[in-house]
Parts: sequence; C-alpha cells; structure tokens
Amino acid sequence: VFLHSFMINREHLCSNHPFATPQTVQSITHSSLPEMRFDGHISFNNIEFAAKDFGNRYHLMPSAVLHPKSVSDISSVVKYIFDLGLASELTVAARGHGHSLEGQAQAYQGVVISMEALRVPEMSFHTGKRPYVDVSAGELWINILHESLKRGLAPRSWTDYLHLTVGGTLSNAGISGQAFQHGPQINNVYQLQVVTGRGEVSTCSEEQNADLFHAVLGGLGQFGIITQARIALEPAPKMVKWIRALYSDFSTFARDQEHLISLTSSLDYVEGFVIINRTGLLNNWRSSFNPKDPVQADQFTTEGKILFCLEVAKYYNPRESDHINQDVDTLLSELNYIRSTLFLSEVSYVDFLDRVHVSEVKLREKGLWEVPHPWLNLLVPRSRIHEFAREVFGNIVKDTSNGPVLIYPVNKTKWKSGTSVITPEEDVFYLVAFLSSAIPSSTGKDGLEHILSQNRKILSFSQRPNLGIKQYLPHYSTEEEWKVHFGAHWEVFCRRKLSYDPLAILAPGQRIFRREK
Ligand code: FAD
Repeated sequence: VFLHSFMINREHLCSNHPFATPQTVQSITHSSLPEMRFDGHISFNNIEFAAKDFGNRYHLMPSAVLHPKSVSDISSVVKYIFDLGLASELTVAARGHGHSLEGQAQAYQGVVISMEALRVPEMSFHTGKRPYVDVSAGELWINILHESLKRGLAPRSWTDYLHLTVGGTLSNAGISGQAFQHGPQINNVYQLQVVTGRGEVSTCSEEQNADLFHAVLGGLGQFGIITQARIALEPAPKMVKWIRALYSDFSTFARDQEHLISLTSSLDYVEGFVIINRTGLLNNWRSSFNPKDPVQADQFTTEGKILFCLEVAKYYNPRESDHINQDVDTLLSELNYIRSTLFLSEVSYVDFLDRVHVSEVKLREKGLWEVPHPWLNLLVPRSRIHEFAREVFGNIVKDTSNGPVLIYPVNKTKWKSGTSVITPEEDVFYLVAFLSSAIPSSTGKDGLEHILSQNRKILSFSQRPNLGIKQYLPHYSTEEEWKVHFGAHWEVFCRRKLSYDPLAILAPGQRIFRREK
C-alpha cells in the first residue's frame, strides 16, 4: 500500500503546551507524507469511527487512520511526523477499543492508529513459576481471558468490563475489585514494547529503560504507543461465589469494606455501589442472586432510602467448595450488613469477570448503549470519604442516579510507585465512579445537561484543595487544571514528555500538551 501526500487543514483545539497558554483557533495548510510501504494499510475514507468513543460527546475527525500489521508500520508513521519537526502540527492517537469518554483517543485532522489491527505478536504463553503472556497491545482483555483459561491460567487484575484493549487500560491504570490485593493492571505487567514520540521502538521493564516503563504506565498515551505487553498470570479458578449485602449506614459499610481489604487472607474481589432510590435494582437481583434468608429478604423494602451494597467474591474450584464456604461464612460473620439482605450467587469465573458484557447486550437491544456517557471517576482519600459521602449522597445525588455509582477502597501500598498515575497521598483511597448514561433528547433529570451539572457540583466540592481528591481517567481543559492534578509530579511528567515525545505528537485528545509550530 502506498501513501501519497495529503493536505491537512488543521484547527487548534483547546489543548495546551507545557510552556504556552492555550491559543485561539487557527488553521494551517500542511502537505505531504512521502511514499511509504506498510504491512497494513492507511485509510483516508470511511474513518468516521475514529471520531467516536464510548463517551459519545466528542467527535473529532482525523485525516487518516492507520491499520497497522507490524510495529514498523507504527514507528514509520510516527518517525515521519517527528522528522517533519516544527514545520508540522500533525498529531497521532493510538486508538484501542475507543472506550474513552472525552475524545482521549481522537486526533483532530491527525492520524489515528487503530491498535486492534495489530495482531503481532500472536499471544504467546510462558508457564512455570512466573507465568506470563506476551500480547499485542491492541488485544482485548476478554480474548486474553479466554486464551489463558485454555492453559488453566488468567491475569490477576482486571477492569469491570473486559472489552477494552491492553494499551488503553495500561495507559490509565486498570482498576477493579482485585486491585486491593494485586494492585491495578499496571502493577501486573512485566515488560512493554513502546514506540516513542520520536518513532523509536524500545523495550522497557523495571530492569531495562525503567523510566520509560514507569512513564508509559498510566501515562495517558503521552510518552509512547504501547505495541506489546508481557502480562503476569496466575492459576485460574473455575468458579466464583459472588455475594452482595446491603447497608443503610455509610460508615458501617465503609468500615466493613476497609476491614476486608486489610486482611491478608481475604476475598478475591471487593467492590461496592450506592443504590439511590432504585427499588427495581434490588428486584432485578432476585433472578440471579439467592437471598440467604428468603422470607426476611422478601420483607425488606428500600423505602426510597440510599443504600450501600457491598459486593464481594471468592474464587474456588469445585472440590474446595466446603472449606471455601466455611471461610466465607467466617468472613461474613465479622461484617455488619443488614442481616436479611445477604444475596449469593455461584457462577463460572468467566461469567463473573465478563458480567458487564451481559448488561451491554441488554442495553444494546434497547438502543441504550450508544448514548452519551458523562462519566465521572474520582479517587478519594480514606480520611475524606465520609465528608465526601455526606455531601455527595446527602446533597448532590440524593434523589436519583442515572447509572451505577461504584464505591470501593484500594490499598495504595499495592500500587507500583513512580508510574504516571496520580492517586491521593494516603495508604487507602476509594474509587468513586459515577457511570451515568444520558437519554439523548431528554431535558429532564436523565438528560445530559442535568447530569453534567451534577458532575460539576461533585467536582466543585471535590476540588477543594484540602481534600486531596484526584480524578481517575482525568479530563481537564486548561494547563492550570492539569498542573493541579499532577501537583508535585507535574515536573516529572513534563520532563518525560520532553524526553519521549518532545514535539507533543502523541495522544492529543488528552489535551495536556499542545503541538504547535
Ligand atoms: P481508548 O479509549 O481507545 O484509548 C484510551 C487512551 O489511551 C487514549 O488516550 C489513547 O490514545 C491511549 N491509547 C490507547 N491504546 C494505546 C496504546 N496501545 N499505547 C498508548 N496509548 C494508547 N477502567 C478501569 O480502570 N476500571 C474499570 O472497571 C473500567 N470499566 C469500564 C467500563 C466501561 C463500559 C468503559 C467504557 C470503560 C471502563 N473503564 C474502566 C475505562 C477504560 O479503562 C478506559 O476508558 C480505557 O482507556 C479504555 O480502553 P480502550 O482500549 O477503549 O482505550
């Protein structure tokens, strides 16, 4: 496939340069990519998909989409653009599964690299004491799960939804209910191959090019395009005891969650969510969860209250079932949930991990998957979680929620230090995720404007300087906000940008740095 010259009429978006304030919109004319031979191909038509994401609010058209079949396809394009130097404003965005929320995988008038096209290396498993799998960074986690299970193995740390790419989640952190024990996904990767913003291909790990390795993990795509990852595996269980129990008091709920994540031998998954005026949600469970005490559970009513649902899981293999039951009963007996509200389910490990996909299928059937998703994810220090819950669930989101509201603590001691992810400074912090869906034409409480305004109120409270709350999957539009987000880490972030992507070519959709002539 040959690539000939193309013209780019570029407008600046409100992105920033580390050393410049945002500028007004301007357009320039740009010419020419030389003749290049690709193992894959580059498209200039039918590329609208690259201007969409799960958030469904930002739609920035690129000029071209590269479908790479080799790492050299990626490095040649980045190198070519790098070599144009200051004469160019072209940018490049790696696009994983496009499940960003605010255009982070888009590149206005730039080149989007469709990472899912990259099929090299084929998944390659290494068993033994320290099992791992080498995968292409465009691989979906769900595929890795299925292939690993054929060998009796599985990754240790997950996201709640598995139809995301390795490169996409490693560029953020990858947090789910296993993170309290294993750290996020970025803790469970041994080695990466990366194409930097200079177009150079580097292998990095704790031992080799460690600064690049740390920069890229949670690096929001700013320092390089991850092309390959070596992911830690563990023996996979077959089954999961999946348990939910309700609390009406936030302090009791949080105390129990923190107790569970402090135990060295505990459950395998600890999460939780807030139920705001949603009796229907409880009734839904009854089809798949069995109440431990059916008579009393039947009498339990939510009465429009805010409830907090602990969600935990214990992995097991069928022959261990008896002693696992005892272990789980002992752990549960130490907790203070409302006794009549213990619900249990036993499912296969795959069904447990792929649980959100079941909701996706249902929502797609109703045409409710491809709606705007004004999500807000926060990391709240333990010392502030009660104040946060009082204000947010007591005043801001007290009547209704437009999707799940997750809330669960993780142990910072399990997080690798030196990566690019910004977390609160305390040993325990909570992930609080407002996973809202907006009804497109609604002007009511389920409409985009209402949800965005609620998010602004939550953010305005959360950004009080003494609270130390950080955004996860962060999104800002000014340099000042990014500086506050990174705090003392801003200098390192900028230093790494200058080392690995000095022309600010990569991941412009994050709007941290601005490429300019
Ligand atoms: P994309 O959206 O395609 O890309 C995200 C960013 O990473 C972009 O800036 C892009 O340029 C960059 N990027 C993509 N690939 C690469 C690469 N190979 N190298 C370098 N940069 C790259 N997150 C959690 O932590 N825990 C969860 O439980 C969780 N659940 C989710 C559930 C749903 C339904 C959705 C939609 C998202 C969820 N997320 C969760 C957020 C998710 O991890 C991020 O949005 C992630 O970026 C999506 O992966 P993706 O492959 O779609 O990446």
